[in-house]
Amino acid sequence: MIEIENVHKSFGSLEVLKGINLNVDNGEVVTIIGGSGSGKSTLLTCINGLEPINAGRIRIDGTEVHAKTTDLNRLRQKVGIVFQQWNAFPHLTVLENVMLAPRKVLGLPKEKSEEIAVKQLTHVGLRDKLSVYPSRMSGGQQQRMAIARALAMSPEYMLFDEVTSALDPMLVGEVLDTLKMLAEEGMTMICVTHEMAFARDVSDRVAFFHQGVMAEIGVPDQIFGSPQRPETQEFLGSVR
Ligand code: ATP
Ligand code: MG
Repeated sequence: MIEIENVHKSFGSLEVLKGINLNVDNGEVVTIIGGSGSGKSTLLTCINGLEPINAGRIRIDGTEVHAKTTDLNRLRQKVGIVFQQWNAFPHLTVLENVMLAPRKVLGLPKEKSEEIAVKQLTHVGLRDKLSVYPSRMSGGQQQRMAIARALAMSPEYMLFDEVTSALDPMLVGEVLDTLKMLAEEGMTMICVTHEMAFARDVSDRVAFFHQGVMAEIGVPDQIFGSPQRPETQEFLGSVR
């Protein structure tokens, strides 16, 4: 379970998160929508300890992310994150790229790392791309490779930050299908997305962020069907 309790986060004098509260249960899929600069990405980077917070608390399975005693490397194995773009190592094949983290971070032997990488690449539909170099793949394939790379660490939680935003519209579907597959398999996920149809389709709950505040959260039918807050209504009106 991910527990986010009254989290405040500032960059200098700019308060970007103004007291965020959110609990994500195991197996739950929460999507975060909201305008540019509302703090969506910042929250994800705070959850896996890439950014410190100024006040409040984030716990993952009871472990406080920002406690001095927390082993962040261990925590990050548990909480995978995939961004808009991932720069794969260009001189390594797809298979070698995905094998790297199990080998270097988990310290697994080569054969075992390869077995895990093949399994995850197969899972995201890239079985036939193992020996290809990343630059020879489409944007959608590269994003699926990034997802396979995160999955190779056997995470219990996955954070996705606009993983389809940099893609040609034609390639968005294959990546969203991969996320949907993970959701259906029971992965606990927080997805920041601009894809409203996707959010409506896969989410257990949708959270709307506005100027550093979680202005509204609810099941998709509620948020998309009868949003309560004027900010939510205005945002949804602008993206439809
Ligand atoms: P978008 O939809 O455009 O990705 P977002 O909701 O993800 O927006 P954030 O990236 O979380 O927004 O940014 C929130 C605010 O914090 C913005 O005003 C941004 O300029 C600022 N910000 C983000 N990262 C930093 C940083 N490392 N240093 C200073 N300011 C930052
Ligand atoms: Mg962002």
